[in-house]
Amino acid sequence: MLAAGIWLLAAFGTSRPTALGLDAPAAQFSAARADAVLGRLLDGQRPRPAGSAENAAVRDRILKELASLGIPTRTSTQMSCFSENRWSTISCGTVTNILAQVSEGSGKEIVLMAHADSVAAGPGAGDDASGVATILEAVRALKAHQPASSREMIGHQIRGGHPIRIVFTDGEESGLLGAAAYLRDSEVRARTGAVINMEARGNQGPSYLFQTGTGDARLIDLYARAVPHFAASSLYAEIYKYLPNDTDMTPFLAAGVPGYNFAFIGNAAQYHTSLDRRENIDPRSLQQHGENALGVTDALRGADFGALKSGNAIYLDVLGGFLPRLPASWSLGLSVAVFALIAWARLRQVGGQFEIRRSLLAFLMPPLLLVGAIGLGFGLHGLASWISGEPDPSFAHPLALRLSLAFGVFAVALAAARAASAAACWLWLAGLAAVCAIWAPGIVPYFLFPCLVAAPLLLLSRGSELALLIAALAGLVVWLSFNHGSEAIMGLRLHPLFMATAAFGLITLLPLLAKARGLGIGAALSLTVAVVLAAVAGMQPAYSSAAPQRLNLGYLEQDGEAWWLADPVPHLPASLRAAAAFSAVPQRQAQIGYAAPAGRARHRAPQATVTRTGDTVTLDLAAEGQGVSLQVPAKAKLRAVTVGGITTPAPEKNLSITCSTPDCAKAQIILRLGSSEPFDLTLVAYARGLPPEGDKLLKARPVWAVPSQGGDRTLLAAKIAIPGR
Ligand SMILES: [Zn+2]
Repeated sequence: MLAAGIWLLAAFGTSRPTALGLDAPAAQFSAARADAVLGRLLDGQRPRPAGSAENAAVRDRILKELASLGIPTRTSTQMSCFSENRWSTISCGTVTNILAQVSEGSGKEIVLMAHADSVAAGPGAGDDASGVATILEAVRALKAHQPASSREMIGHQIRGGHPIRIVFTDGEESGLLGAAAYLRDSEVRARTGAVINMEARGNQGPSYLFQTGTGDARLIDLYARAVPHFAASSLYAEIYKYLPNDTDMTPFLAAGVPGYNFAFIGNAAQYHTSLDRRENIDPRSLQQHGENALGVTDALRGADFGALKSGNAIYLDVLGGFLPRLPASWSLGLSVAVFALIAWARLRQVGGQFEIRRSLLAFLMPPLLLVGAIGLGFGLHGLASWISGEPDPSFAHPLALRLSLAFGVFAVALAAARAASAAACWLWLAGLAAVCAIWAPGIVPYFLFPCLVAAPLLLLSRGSELALLIAALAGLVVWLSFNHGSEAIMGLRLHPLFMATAAFGLITLLPLLAKARGLGIGAALSLTVAVVLAAVAGMQPAYSSAAPQRLNLGYLEQDGEAWWLADPVPHLPASLRAAAAFSAVPQRQAQIGYAAPAGRARHRAPQATVTRTGDTVTLDLAAEGQGVSLQVPAKAKLRAVTVGGITTPAPEKNLSITCSTPDCAKAQIILRLGSSEPFDLTLVAYARGLPPEGDKLLKARPVWAVPSQGGDRTLLAAKIAIPGR
């Protein structure tokens, strides 16, 4: 009951702002006003990838909004390329950034950033028109923030402090192209002092501070003073490192510019799909986004940027209302100290009379709970998955499986409680704090902060129930908040994270459960309920029209043949199989997917005029479409590529070079090779959508499946022979 109550508290009781209406005071951020801006920007809610007509139309609307705020603005159009070592793609394209000077001032600039483009598959209302609208409304509020007297004096100009600039980037979705273009100028890099990036990977939930760069203690202090509601943890940056997501912040951090990366990530099922629409955005997410942007910008204006560099902090928000934090350099010392305190409390209590067998058994219970819970998670998820026939059975309807997993972990906790002891449970958590202090400091507060509450209580109270309860509350609040938030990352597909976080929370409850009766029966009942609920979860459909499967369709011409393509989902819907003779299993064509023959090729293949001088190969492209990609095999030993005058170094491996705006179809691409051998490369020209004959496939795609990311595409591929030297 207690654990369930705290989970519900984490889910519904976390401190979040109320969305303010159109009548909110002028100096405040209002979600309703930001939403009105969003409505004007997104008229028609069409996709706006870089280089598209809609991209230009939305840009004009943004310029109008800036003009109505009286902010001097210009645009900057250029070819840009970006890549990171860990990527196997070099992305290029011609992008147009919007640059606006909100206020003059002294010292380095504060850059407020969001990306104006969207993916091709959807209107990107959350990602990232919401960021653009948030910044426009925040800047309006900032300008209204001035005391009346000074406003009269300087005519609505924000006065004093660091200059503030808005950068609305283009081509973020095509590979961070706008941000890279902005930072290409060394003068711009030198004058940029801090960046605030507004992003979204979903359309609900808190606006998280999920990335700051290293040396963040002062930045976190400033955030804690500047915003009314917190959603931050030193763990998020640690997790984010392992996610395949990137934002415009990446090139800024690489250039050594500190800053804040904010995003809401709830309801990620609609992210990068046609459902990322304005009406699906939670106004409270927008409100918190705006309070973050406004609060942090205002606080940075008066900050000494030189003093922002500091050590790292470890921190986490407690139910959105508090942000306890400590220097990361203290984590090991403090962890060892609480470990010693808990051990001492135990020694004092037993007075040196150990029962070796019981103590050993007690010490085994916390890891047993953890391993048992994760193992049972695989069992319950596996059962639901087996019944459903889908690898992610609870994607659309997570409630039954969530409850199943909760009952499952509780069953293991009841089974482990019988032999548990307070000292063993808390020694484990303190020990893990110490281990994490060495390997992954970001996660330390989840172990350390509850121990800081528990250690003195255990020492002073000699194990009274009240002390155990207060200590358990600290642990449960921290871990179950994490448990609730973690579902936003990958849903219950990532059930080991759900089970592990729940288990760590319940470890703190074991000493109290140990005193209860009927543990065996309770565990058996709990397990039965868990299994039944997992079966129920398996019987529900895996996808729905609100949380659909991602399934792009394609049309490909290659080597004189034509093919229909479908993404390699686990089960291709029967309606699509009926519409075309798709292969039984995914195949490798220009990309991996189900393929169905579509007759002879009937379009002109993309062409390139090839000239080789020494190790330099020049390709003059003659293609049609909205973009091209070149697949260069590892044996070519590609060292650098130049597109539209922009040179990018390349790692000598299998690499694709993507140029994703319409001008790329006629671009000149220069390859500098490390090999003198001849080889073939594949040139693919692509256009959005399918040819007219593809209508039958589009109609056959079920309502519970939608295009995502780049969306449905027509691909025309050609082999280009590169002669040897
Ligand atoms: Zn984005």
